[in-house]
Amino acid sequence: MNRKQKKALYRILIAAALLLAANLAPLPYGASCLVYAAAYLTIGWDILRKAALGVKNRRIFDENFLMAVATLGAIALAVVEGSGDFNEAVAVMLFYQIGELFQSVAVGKSRRSIAALMDIRPDSANLETENGLEQVDPEEIPVGSVIVVQPGERIPIDGTVIGGSSGVDTAALTGESVPRDVTVGDEVISGCINLSGVLRVQTTKKFGESTVSKILELVENSSSHKSQSENFISKFARVYTPAVCYGALALALLPPLARLAAGVPPAFGDWGYRALTFLVISCPCALVISIPLSFFAGLGGASREGILIKGSNYLETLSRVKTVVFDKTGTITRGVFEVSGVHHCEGRGEELIEYAALAECASSHPISQSLRRHYGKEPDRDRVRDIEEISGHGVTATVDDRTVAAGNDKLMRRLGVDYIPCHSVGTVVHVAIDGSYAGHILISDVEKENVREALAALREAGVEKTVMLTGDMESAARQVAESVGVDEYHSELLPGDKVEKVEQLLKELPNGGKLAFVGDGINDAPVLSRADIGIAMGALGSDAAIEAADVVLMDDDPMKIARAIRISRKCLRIVYENIVFALAVKLGCLLLGALGLAGMWAAIFADVGVMVLAVLNAMRALRTK
Ligand code: ADP
Ligand code: MG
Repeated sequence: MNRKQKKALYRILIAAALLLAANLAPLPYGASCLVYAAAYLTIGWDILRKAALGVKNRRIFDENFLMAVATLGAIALAVVEGSGDFNEAVAVMLFYQIGELFQSVAVGKSRRSIAALMDIRPDSANLETENGLEQVDPEEIPVGSVIVVQPGERIPIDGTVIGGSSGVDTAALTGESVPRDVTVGDEVISGCINLSGVLRVQTTKKFGESTVSKILELVENSSSHKSQSENFISKFARVYTPAVCYGALALALLPPLARLAAGVPPAFGDWGYRALTFLVISCPCALVISIPLSFFAGLGGASREGILIKGSNYLETLSRVKTVVFDKTGTITRGVFEVSGVHHCEGRGEELIEYAALAECASSHPISQSLRRHYGKEPDRDRVRDIEEISGHGVTATVDDRTVAAGNDKLMRRLGVDYIPCHSVGTVVHVAIDGSYAGHILISDVEKENVREALAALREAGVEKTVMLTGDMESAARQVAESVGVDEYHSELLPGDKVEKVEQLLKELPNGGKLAFVGDGINDAPVLSRADIGIAMGALGSDAAIEAADVVLMDDDPMKIARAIRISRKCLRIVYENIVFALAVKLGCLLLGALGLAGMWAAIFADVGVMVLAVLNAMRALRTK
């Protein structure tokens, strides 16, 4: 409990003690009135204040207003009747505050457990300086500095390992419990925990641009995207609360007036009391509280598994996904190409690879990374000028004053180079030097291990159609599509064609269904944003993906897509359960209250009870297993 909650608890205890004293101590009427007043003000002053402020700001009809009117009314009734029984007014406030406290503890708890999951913000970093190691604030470390990460410490900033080797625990980011081995030359990502060896890391980013900061930002902003169900609640409250207030007014006035007209005693007190009870019952707190809490818990549960969802509206869309469209490279396949042959190069294979690797030295495309890896050396960037990357085609550049082009058939046709088509299955990188054809490099990618299972899991989770889109050649696409078993595939698409295909698939969706696009964020940002929901996978370390997508899968496990859908379904189910349950109990109580069958005590019990159950139900969304 935090300080505010402790204060609330003390207030509840003091008010309860005063209430007890007023009932048990044999006090004269005036003194007991004073004790009641003290109890009432102890427990209710802040609500009275908020209600008054609400009226002043012309935002009446909130729950504070309801509570204030109902309890002040009950006091007025007791005064008029001269009963001296102010128990009801105090007790109503007391229970209301207990409910509020419970809710605040529950919300705090779920916030904290999300914060704990997301407790990835490092406090300090060990910077290597001339005078040895210095502990500094990570925000002060410039790019290119060398930091030392001891075993057990969290890596504070993204960088490259330049000394030592170790296992790093990425669980906080990916939910993946098997440590990843890293050694000299590997990239490490902030937020992971160094497990066994001392690592020397050269930073490649500033703290503010490191993975940790991006993720924290994303999580902090996610609750500001409201879902339709949440909007429903605020719209509902705007209609509901005034309706209830006028209903109560009618209940207080109409029946007594009717009785007057009929010539019987009007019983103003009786109907006034019923109207006040009606007001207390009507407070929709269970709904107002439990719905955002359910979404919040759903987002938290998902992030625990390395699935970051940027807002509760996406949770809602995700639960209705019927078509899932995949990008091929890096999504269905690993995006780690092996060179399987160099053809038509007349013995100049080495040179071909070298020129290709140099021309590709600035690209982040998986093909380019694979070529550089095969080249084996760090490309000498001073030899390269005028690099141009043409999306869906390849790259052109000037290397050692010779113009080099590396890419697919489309690129060759575009440049007017006669090329020799490749007859083997795989991805082909044609290379032209000084405008004439120099041969091609055949590279092949491997599927991720569990894509088949992931597609089966999607079908089981209610997805009706899976589609693969790729810029790669027909033959390579067919082979992958058949091997993993997608329902449909389209090949040789430029990024713009992918958008068109997605638009067409959007039109074919079943009623109310949604389309998700899964990509790696590399040159598919337009599609990610055109789909109803964009899912980026393998996002660890890729800023582009974290920016462009609505849902970010921190590792590249395709099974997580089905998990994300399941989590969203569960969360939405909980939300609907709470709406139906709360409204049903509420309507029942309102009816009983109007008929005079339920008093204020029953009303408040029902309200707190519904709220507690709804909140407990909401917390289920945090557990995802
Ligand atoms: P995918 O749809 O499979 O993700 P992309 O749209 O990224 O593929 O690229 C489509 C095709 O364009 C690739 O298969 C490759 O032939 C070519 N290409 C794109 N970028 C490059 C590059 N940097 N170097 C060589 N070829 C490239
Ligand atoms: Mg791609």
